[in-house]
Amino acid sequence: MDDSSYGLLTFTASTRAAFHQRLRENPANRRISKNDKDIVVEWLTNPYKRPSSQKEFSRRNYILKTFTWDEKTQTLLAVRKAKGENDRIVVTEDAIADVVDSVHQSNNHGGWDATWKDINRSYHGILRSDVIYLLKQCQVCALNPSKRPKGSAVIERSLPPIQREFLDPLRYPESVKTDSMGDPGSLTCSCKSTSGF
Ligand SMILES: [Zn+2]
Repeated sequence: MDDSSYGLLTFTASTRAAFHQRLRENPANRRISKNDKDIVVEWLTNPYKRPSSQKEFSRRNYILKTFTWDEKTQTLLAVRKAKGENDRIVVTEDAIADVVDSVHQSNNHGGWDATWKDINRSYHGILRSDVIYLLKQCQVCALNPSKRPKGSAVIERSLPPIQREFLDPLRYPESVKTDSMGDPGSLTCSCKSTSGF
């Protein structure tokens, strides 16, 4: 039985392990650890908690402005920054891979930009570089080249040297020579017209 794509995981266990190591080695303020979340929720839900220092006072003010606790769903949300946006669900570091996995599956293995947009619209605490790191390891996308995000190599190839030469002949003298190597007549011709200016 062919099981090459059946039951394929978006991210393998080793991808997840490598990702968690990356989180430990590259900490970022925008990510939220479980401990950070506990502190935020404590400030939002405990009316008896009082700041004991100026630093804590500032931190509490920042938290009250930035986050809100949804009692009904028991969810920590980051308050929307502009009209038309939604409050976004706070994702702790341990859940980033799960959220990226689920969003990436629900948009049918969309590319980097589509998946990042969907994540950034609804979730807080995930970096764009985290999304790209994980999507590069997606097993399903790896099997389907048409779903692979377009890399810089593809973009370069889509604009052949001959076109760059037309865009700006003076800036690409090398490409003029290389491209015309098979045709000495046109080499002479283009050199003369260029030096004529
Ligand atoms: Zn994928």
